[in-house]
Amino acid sequence: MTDEMTSVKEKNTAIVLAAGQGKRMKSSLQKQFMLICGKPVLYYSLYEFQNSPRIRDIILVTGEAELDYCRREIVERYGFSKVSRIVAGGKERYHSVYAGLLACQDTDYVYIHDGARPFVDEGIIERTHAEVLKSGACVAGMPVKDTIKIADESGCISYTPNRSLVWMIQTPQVFSYELVRRAYELQMADENPMITDDAMVVEQMLHRKVRLVEGSYRNIKITTPEDIPMAETLCKKDV
Ligand code: C5P
Repeated sequence: MTDEMTSVKEKNTAIVLAAGQGKRMKSSLQKQFMLICGKPVLYYSLYEFQNSPRIRDIILVTGEAELDYCRREIVERYGFSKVSRIVAGGKERYHSVYAGLLACQDTDYVYIHDGARPFVDEGIIERTHAEVLKSGACVAGMPVKDTIKIADESGCISYTPNRSLVWMIQTPQVFSYELVRRAYELQMADENPMITDDAMVVEQMLHRKVRLVEGSYRNIKITTPEDIPMAETLCKKDV
């Protein structure tokens, strides 16, 4: 472990998700391994967690077939010494999260992060860290800029929620390990859950409140082909 590289008392583990096929990208190369500014998408979030004084270790979750590639071409190549384990994910995102939770060793808090979000930054890690110490459960997100409509089954507008209460949810989603592990144990008993993020698991299984913490509008998830030029632009602003 890398205690000399952390500055906090409690043990914080990042679970970085890089499994799944990402079908919406319509590419044979998974989006988490596509290059932006010459480096794989996955490199950028690992870099932030590696360099965060708040993070003790990183669990990397990837596809079974990519375990070796990730070890050699990403973890060893870029010297990500905080990556303590690389484990195989599962069919759906929640299977991969569960595999990451099972791989954690003696930890207090977990930062569950989509490897397809390269622009997480220390400010977001710092804000979620401060909040999770207080409440035990929080997620990064941002208020929406557009008006959002909820549709009915026939494709018509059903209602318009108050925009000031609508947030786009991002990652990291940060929890007390004990809490999120318990929530996932309950969730995994369900055969076909409709889950799109970790907050839902904690809310539905434990009826716990999850706090919203300011992420950033740069913290985009790479999902469809038009996200790649956008990511290149955001990346170039950094250098
Ligand atoms: O597909 P989606 O954009 O929702 O994926 C979000 C994140 O979850 C990505 O970083 C992806 O690598 C990860 N994921 C995973 N296991 C899956 C599906 C997605 O680790 N089965």
